[in-house]
Amino acid sequence: MQSQAPTVYIITYGCKVNYSESEAVQSQLRAMNIACEMVSDGAISKLPPAQVFVVNSCAVTSMAEKKSRYGVSKIKRYHPDAKIVTMGCAFGRKTPEMVALEVAGVKEPENGVIVNHGREKAFIKVQDGCRNFCTYCIIPYIRNRIECRPVDEVVAEIRAQGPHVTSVVLCGINLCYYPNFSELCRAVDACGVAWEISSLEPPMITKELIGVLQQCQHFVPHFHICLQSGCDEVLRAMNRHYTTAEYAQIIQMLRDAFSTATFGTDLIVGFPTETDAAFQTTLAFLQKIKLDKIHLFPFSPRVGTEAAKLPPIQNSIVTERMKILSQIAKIGE
Ligand code: SF4
Repeated sequence: MQSQAPTVYIITYGCKVNYSESEAVQSQLRAMNIACEMVSDGAISKLPPAQVFVVNSCAVTSMAEKKSRYGVSKIKRYHPDAKIVTMGCAFGRKTPEMVALEVAGVKEPENGVIVNHGREKAFIKVQDGCRNFCTYCIIPYIRNRIECRPVDEVVAEIRAQGPHVTSVVLCGINLCYYPNFSELCRAVDACGVAWEISSLEPPMITKELIGVLQQCQHFVPHFHICLQSGCDEVLRAMNRHYTTAEYAQIIQMLRDAFSTATFGTDLIVGFPTETDAAFQTTLAFLQKIKLDKIHLFPFSPRVGTEAAKLPPIQNSIVTERMKILSQIAKIGE
């Protein structure tokens, strides 16, 4: 039996992979009969005392890293007696199992299946790691071991979710590395629950994959396809492996295949080689392809990456470009 006041609070920053890993920690802890709860960082000052806080951090931008570190100092301020266990990209890679054992001691969890205990939407991590080395991104330096979970393991995890889970989201750091993604999609669909894909890199969206998704009865056609820039020269400097023409073609193919499809993307504003002309090209491209939601990120140099060695664009210019783009973007949370 679990006591009512949780012993452990888990705070998560960043992407859906992090949320999936936090759920994995929660699942492991509950399997050890340790009461725990997912909370937001906004709740830190109001929470009743707990023995342990787990902070699952993000380092995708320097702002994200600052936020994760600020969360840790806030916990220290409001809960000076609590133990803090960190994980995620800002604090070094640890598996959910390692974190659970660090929280709980050395007792092994009773099962390896990750069960979402609260939300209606469960994030199912199917892949980890990236070696693409986009020039602005720190992830390949932190999570460069590629791991893909076997199809039957993913299916078992989906089937183990409680009746409160009405949809699942497949997530990974870079799903391009999944060896047979079509097979995974078919198997997930056969579970009979609504499902979607968290984020896709353009090169993996082929006619074959679109055909498979069309046959999936439970697939929700919301596509988050990372663009990052609407200018080919900037994409090259970012080491992204597609052109804007290819991107536009992918969107068109998906619109033709799914009449109810919605589209989201990530876009970096003020990359060091983004000249005024390059910015205007991006603006025109976005106006042309009309995506439903654009998550805008001002470029922030990550020490150790190639882009951090380039002379930055003035802050005031980046701010102005953010302002212009936000008028055509429904900025994501
Ligand atoms: S594809 Fe690029 S942006 Fe995405 S995780 Fe890999 S290096 Fe980073």
